[in-house]
Amino acid sequence: ATPARQDFIRQIVREDLASGKHAAVRTRFPPEPNGYLHIGHAKAICLDFGIAAEFDGRCNLRFDDTNPEKEDLEFVRAIEDDVRWLGFEWAELRHASDYFDVYYRAAQKLIEQGDAFVCDLTPEQIREYRGTLIEPGRNSPFRDRGVDENLDLFQRMRAGEFADGTRTLRAKIDMSSGNMNLRDPALYRIKQVTHQNTGDAWPIYPMYDFAHALGDSIEGITHSLCTLEFEDHRPLYDWVVDRVDLAGNPDLLASLTERGLPVVAAKPRQIEFSRLNINYTVMSKRKLTQLVGEGLVDGWDDPRMYTLQGLRRRGYTPASLRLLVDRVGISKQNSVIDFSVLEGALRDDLDARAPRRMAVVNPLKLVLTNLPDGHAETLSFPNHPKDEAQGVREVPFSRQLWIEHDDFAEVPPKGWKRLIPGGEVRLRGAGIVRCDEVIKDESGAIVELRGTLDPESRPGMEGANRKIKGTIHWVSAAHAVETEVRLYDRLFVVEKPDDESTGKTYRDHLNPESKRSVTGYVEPAAATAAPEQSFQFERLGYFVADRVDHTAAKPVFNRSVTLRDTWAA
Ligand code: ATP
Ligand code: MG
Ligand code: MG
Repeated sequence: ATPARQDFIRQIVREDLASGKHAAVRTRFPPEPNGYLHIGHAKAICLDFGIAAEFDGRCNLRFDDTNPEKEDLEFVRAIEDDVRWLGFEWAELRHASDYFDVYYRAAQKLIEQGDAFVCDLTPEQIREYRGTLIEPGRNSPFRDRGVDENLDLFQRMRAGEFADGTRTLRAKIDMSSGNMNLRDPALYRIKQVTHQNTGDAWPIYPMYDFAHALGDSIEGITHSLCTLEFEDHRPLYDWVVDRVDLAGNPDLLASLTERGLPVVAAKPRQIEFSRLNINYTVMSKRKLTQLVGEGLVDGWDDPRMYTLQGLRRRGYTPASLRLLVDRVGISKQNSVIDFSVLEGALRDDLDARAPRRMAVVNPLKLVLTNLPDGHAETLSFPNHPKDEAQGVREVPFSRQLWIEHDDFAEVPPKGWKRLIPGGEVRLRGAGIVRCDEVIKDESGAIVELRGTLDPESRPGMEGANRKIKGTIHWVSAAHAVETEVRLYDRLFVVEKPDDESTGKTYRDHLNPESKRSVTGYVEPAAATAAPEQSFQFERLGYFVADRVDHTAAKPVFNRSVTLRDTWAA
């Protein structure tokens, strides 16, 4: 069992439940469906859904779909798929667009209260008026418009009378605030854009801060967890929650009750935590989108991508990502996690669970000349050395084997423990072989080895116990299944691929060796794997049957991670 997680957010939740401030915890995960989720989102998902699960609460999945031009149903589907894959289920599926009517009425209320006004400044003028960190902003000349004029103009914005960018609805807060977010921020902008859910019903769309604060209130979110960059937005978040006061104005929610959407207006509290950053990766949706768009990778689910779809195809398991998030922890401290922590989480998960198989990725033929032609037997191997419950498998063994080319050296380097001419090595689970002969082609390349299997060294025999320095893996050439093996490595060769201070971009740091495809051989019990099944290929690493391309007749395995960190200094 996992020990109870201790972090400052869970501490707050515990206290709020103990004090009776909230009877139950409600959280939400609010992605914008404008791209695929990345590994950073896994942290937010594990936190939002995890806290709800641990404290018997509820977590909604809410699509923050307020920017229609960049959003797409393709992303919506993938996000749902990713959340479920990580092992979570939402209490309710909501969209910011479900609430467009509430937002509109809330905005009208703000106008009536004198808390919002329609501004005719152009985007450029608005920027000019906003001031800077050291210089206060100036009030818009439209700030003192009367309530009736504002209501009329806002209604005409909504009716589609005005062109994009010609007007905004702005909150009336404080143009000299030290917090730029409070300098009369926009609440609505005009966008004559078709929306994936609401079609052409709305030519105006709410801004994130406004929509997010109200969405949380509508859903009765108690703890609204988000990343640190929203810390400066919290005063605006609280301003919107307080000024609109949905709890005190249930009539604003009429459109939702009519549609049968259960409504709980509560006062949500925003709490920020630090983002997950991992070196050797890029993680923003914008850059991931560029990698795909510019053909630098083979799509969103390219196994080298740091999208959840990519990691999944690479062989990352939900448990390994949850383990990563647990190991990284939750705090307000920004930090960059070493890539080895991500890989370590996968190794630890798969070491405990993944069945073992033998596979050869750089094949060299080894003929055991003292076995008769057509000799065939099956050897029994445990599926997992530390987990008897996984049972055993039968591995065919015969006269001709494939071994790893790298396990033979004509002129061995110092400390070599594997096969050399005239030397002996142990064939995993089969016996001890001596190399008698090295066959070469005209160019001098080694094409085959011939050797003798010591008949007294078969498994279980006394002679099997004699001391031999190395053990190598093998597959029976007659029985092994030819396999495409995709040897993936990190996509970037530098720790900070998106550091542009050197005048370079992440495109300049792509690892040319990040994908190599070779033809290898696997034992039959690996070929019949279901897509997405993970194995340890002994001595090679952890591999997964490719989610898309793998079939038993034409196996395709992706290297998820090597057995050891080969990047460590
Ligand atoms: P990005 O800017 O990285 O493309 P985003 O923040 O625009 O991502 P959203 O769809 O708005 O993406 O994110 C949904 C939720 O996931 C937000 O609450 C956000 O704070 C959180 N999130 C995004 N990136 C990370 C990260 N690297 N670590 C932790 N949480 C993250
Ligand atoms: Mg966002
Ligand atoms: Mg972003």
